[in-house]
This record gives sequence, structure tokens and C-alpha cells, in this order.
Amino acid sequence: MPYLADENRYEKMQYNYTGNSGLKLPAVSLGLWHNFGGVDTLENARKMLRKAFDLGITHFDLANNYGPPAGSAEETMGILMEKDFRPYRDQLVISSKAGYYMWPGPYGEWGSRKYLISSLDQSLKRMGLDYVDIFYHHRPDPDTPLEETIGALKQIQDQGKALYVGISNYNAEQTKKAVEVAENLGVKLLLNQYNYSIFDRWSEEDNLLETLSDTEMGSIIYSPLSQGLLTDKYLNGIPADSRAAKESGFLKKDSITEEKLDKIRELNSMASDRGQSLSQMALAWVLDQGVTSVLVGASKVDQIIENVGSLKNTEFSNDELAAIEAIVAN
Ligand code: NDP
Repeated sequence: MPYLADENRYEKMQYNYTGNSGLKLPAVSLGLWHNFGGVDTLENARKMLRKAFDLGITHFDLANNYGPPAGSAEETMGILMEKDFRPYRDQLVISSKAGYYMWPGPYGEWGSRKYLISSLDQSLKRMGLDYVDIFYHHRPDPDTPLEETIGALKQIQDQGKALYVGISNYNAEQTKKAVEVAENLGVKLLLNQYNYSIFDRWSEEDNLLETLSDTEMGSIIYSPLSQGLLTDKYLNGIPADSRAAKESGFLKKDSITEEKLDKIRELNSMASDRGQSLSQMALAWVLDQGVTSVLVGASKVDQIIENVGSLKNTEFSNDELAAIEAIVAN
């Protein structure tokens, strides 16, 4: 059956301007880091992307190395582009990145012009696209001059291979330097992609969100559920089909400690008092900080439906915010 997207999809989602650009991102975006690789089931990946788009999730986030094996999530995107999404290309924001290890030798990772440009060319081939909407430098490179890395992003944008360019995992200091270099080169950095959640607070101490607002950049938050910890799934052990149980998963079993589970239990009961699931409260909390988009992952269609449901209640009273801080600090 050919895919026909839900006609009402744009009524279900909220869209936010990204920094001072004209590009709106859905408040909830979907990432293809886990569960879309060559080791995963294409039919499940297909169901998840279809459901996401039907719910108004117009933004799919990828990177050169997503899989496993590396590159295979982009291949999955390419297959599903052909099968389902080609008619909707202009309604989608598809991103990719380069920065982490991709191929052997001196040109297969970090931030040289040589690596970034060849990597994006490979990504475009895998996805069957002429351009990505956003291309990111995936992590800061301590050894390549920023002028070269940001210069490569500008070249990519000038060539039309990416409509917008951004950075990922740059802290506040590195962001300020990157923005200065970008201004000198005459290119605009659209946004920074970094991790933030009720459990992961480094960016608060770093004042990163404030820096992004000062530099008029957008913010897209990865692992807002702390890779699934901020759900009720681990409360009664580690389910066999969870990220923590999977060999290829990045969430390690030993990070699920009794101490963490106590906090999850308390947060879970608070969420239920608010009439939400814990995943919904965790996403609402990140959105309440004023970010452009929360970038969730999923292994099942139902998780996507549940996570979009977070938008029904994104308001927190001061008492609720203080209670969350007390639980986390305990
Ligand atoms: P999350 O914190 O949203 O974790 C997603 C995982 O949590 C899912 O795969 C699923 O795992 C579980 N989950 C999600 N929703 C629910 C639910 N409602 N109930 C129960 N379990 C749920 O984000 P990710 O860590 O996946 O990161 C999201 C995206 O961010 C990535 O796909 C990628 O695009 C991007 N990213 C970017 C990075 C960067 O360096 N720029 C680094 C990391 C991610 P399970 O398999 O257990 O069901």
C-alpha cells in the first residue's frame, strides 16, 4: 500500500522557530541513532517513521555513523525515502552530521574540510538525497583550526549540499568561538545539538542555553529521556528488548543503579499526579526550559505516540519544578 500521510498531521504538533532563522522545527523531533540500522527490522523502522510524520514530526535526525553498522541508518532512510517519503521531501527536515570515526586513516573523523565534505557526499548517496536540510559538525575537534571546520560548513552550504549548518556537542565557550569565526566567514550557525535532561545537567552549569539565546542560535536536545532511563521501563528490571539489554545499545546496564531507580520511582509518581507518563513529563520539562526541539529516539511506534503526548501538558508550577530538583539532588 502506498503511504499517504495523515491529512491532519500539522494540527497535532507545535512548531518553533530555530533561533532567529526562518526554519521551524517540530517541538518533538525523531532521531535514528538506535533501531534504524542494518541490524534492525526495516518494517519496524518504516512503521515508526510513518507514524512520526503522521503525528507532525517533520524532522528526522541522522549522522554518518548511525547504525550499526555505521552508515546503515542513512541507508534505511534512503530506502524509506524511496518507498514512502519522496512525495513529502519538501515537508521534511532531514539532518546528518560528521565528526566521529567513520573510516580508517587520517581523513575518517574529526573536523578537517577533507573529512566533512567527503563524509557528507557519502551520506547524500546513502540517503538518495541531493541535499540535507541541516548538516552538523558532530563534535569539537581540538586540533583542526575552527576556520577550517566552519569554512567547510560554509562551503557545503554554498554548494547547496545543506540548507543550514550547525554544531553539536560544543560547550558555551566553544560555541562562542565558533560563532565568531562563522561571522567572520559570513556563514550563520543555525543551532547546537547537545544532551540535556532531568538527569543530565552539564549544560546548565555551562550556561549553554543562555549562550545560544545570546547568539540567536537554536537548541535541539538529544537523549532528553536519558536514553530511556526517564521512563517507567526499568522499574521492574531490564526488559529484554530495551536499549540497556542490547549489545549494540549505548545505555550500559551498570548505569541503572538502585539510587537512580529510587529517583525514577519518585519522578514516575510525580508524573502520574500530573496525569502524564514519566517520559511525557521528562520531555515537557526539557521543553519548558525554552529549547527549540526535543530529539527523541524510539524502538516502537507506541513510544512515539506517547512522547508526542507530552505536548498536552508542558506547564510546571514552581512547586513541581522545586520537587523535581529535590528528587534529583537527593
Ligand atoms: P532518548 O533519551 O529519547 O532515548 C530514546 C530511547 O528511550 C528509545 O530508543 C527507547 O529505548 C526509549 N524510549 C523512548 N520513548 C519511550 C517511552 N515512551 N517509553 C519507554 N521507553 C521509551 O534519546 P536518544 O538517546 O535515542 O537520542 C535521540 C536522538 O538524538 C538520536 O536518535 C540521535 O538522533 C540524537 N543523538 C545525537 C547525539 C550527538 O552527539 N549529537 C548523541 C546521541 C543522540 P528502548 O530501546 O529501550 O525501547
